[in-house]
Amino acid sequence: MRDTASQMSKPLVLVVEDEAALATMLRYNLEKQGFRVEEAADGQEALDRVAESQPDLVLLDWMLPAMSGIEVCRQLRRRSATRDLPVIMVTARTEDQDAVRGLNTGADDYITKPFNIDALLARMRALLRRANAVPAKARLAFHDLAMDLAVHRVQRNGRTIHLGPTEFRLLEFFMQHPRRVFSREELLDAVWGRDIHVEPRTVDVHIRRLRKAINGEGELDVVRTVRAAGYALDTEAR
Ligand code: CA
Repeated sequence: MRDTASQMSKPLVLVVEDEAALATMLRYNLEKQGFRVEEAADGQEALDRVAESQPDLVLLDWMLPAMSGIEVCRQLRRRSATRDLPVIMVTARTEDQDAVRGLNTGADDYITKPFNIDALLARMRALLRRANAVPAKARLAFHDLAMDLAVHRVQRNGRTIHLGPTEFRLLEFFMQHPRRVFSREELLDAVWGRDIHVEPRTVDVHIRRLRKAINGEGELDVVRTVRAAGYALDTEAR
């Protein structure tokens, strides 16, 4: 019973993708990150699956056989039951990006192939939180740091830390991928988002603010600067 309950509390993602290899890769990575996954290989199957399974989020490929991803999205938006269903459109680089953005498809976000899976996951989680779905991980912990995403609270050694919105998202991203080194560009993509033009050095400013906020007197600096590579959340001495 308990297993079933915890299984049901995981967000359900419908992956609409006609490339079987990509669908398999997405399923593998999403399941590993605590999502349930269903697949649809074309637009009609996608609409049927949405009606049957009521997913929490749809990853929708733009180029599908017969019915395009755009048409699927339009139909989802037309129905009251799925008007607010979070949709991330997946596009290929060869498609005209301006056209993609300009088209009023009603998608909540876009990601371009080939994409970084961590960037996709960050966007999915952001979208799910906005939609008030249960986040994949409501609580994150690393070393003596704890984040409660549901109540937007950060603590270190039991004391509450106040972070600005960007520092909060940065720390959340780091805590989802502890010890992994991310370049400034990867952090921009995952934390700031695709459409916002920000100079890479802006990342340094926010990293500095994050450090100042989370590292108390005599505490270990858990943000590691990796020369010429980027930043990581790590307890390892530099
Ligand atoms: Ca396709």
